[in-house]
Amino acid sequence: MARHTGPVCKLCRREGQKLFLKGQKCYTEKCPVERRAYPPGQHGPAQARRRKQSDYAMQLREKQKVKRMYGLQETQFRNLFERAARESGVTGENLLIGLETRLDNVIFRLGLASSRNQARQLVRHRHVQVNGRLVDVPSYQVKAGDDITVRAKSKELAVIESSLGARTRPRLVEWLTLDEKNRVARVVRVPTRDDIPMDVQEQLIVELYSK
Ligand code: SF4
Repeated sequence: MARHTGPVCKLCRREGQKLFLKGQKCYTEKCPVERRAYPPGQHGPAQARRRKQSDYAMQLREKQKVKRMYGLQETQFRNLFERAARESGVTGENLLIGLETRLDNVIFRLGLASSRNQARQLVRHRHVQVNGRLVDVPSYQVKAGDDITVRAKSKELAVIESSLGARTRPRLVEWLTLDEKNRVARVVRVPTRDDIPMDVQEQLIVELYSK
């Protein structure tokens, strides 16, 4: 499936906040969101000065932000939304939980990769096992009780070593545990909305797709 291959920092500048798409580089002072706090392009500075956004524009931007954060294409995101809408409970929360429990996101949250993009590659390149079986599908949904391991021959991979050794690694979320030395992790429970450390108004996405 086609992926965004252009400069990812432009995506953050478009959304006006850090989406952490470049791993460790996002924690340095050179982050363009901080240096140029306006949307990319010729009319970016003028757009930043414009104050009022329509409801539709706010809903669209919120959806684009979350979609870009998790590195999904529109169809994948829409499918996930429709599944979330069919489940019981609050649709917006179901959507975020569905995104969080993707295998590539779990690898990122565990700190085995420094970005979701890198995590997706680790999965695709067959370095990850779930409950002892190789899984190379980044969208695989993990469940409570699943054991996630790095394959024996991949445990010393440079990307994993450098990601785990990074000084600016985010704290491990409470719904996952990790034995760093053996590269063995467990999904203790399915996350709730409170476990998802993101400044997102998911209700806006629900409103957008419900039109
Ligand atoms: Fe680029 Fe990362 Fe900053 Fe986003 S957060 S603008 S990807 S350096």
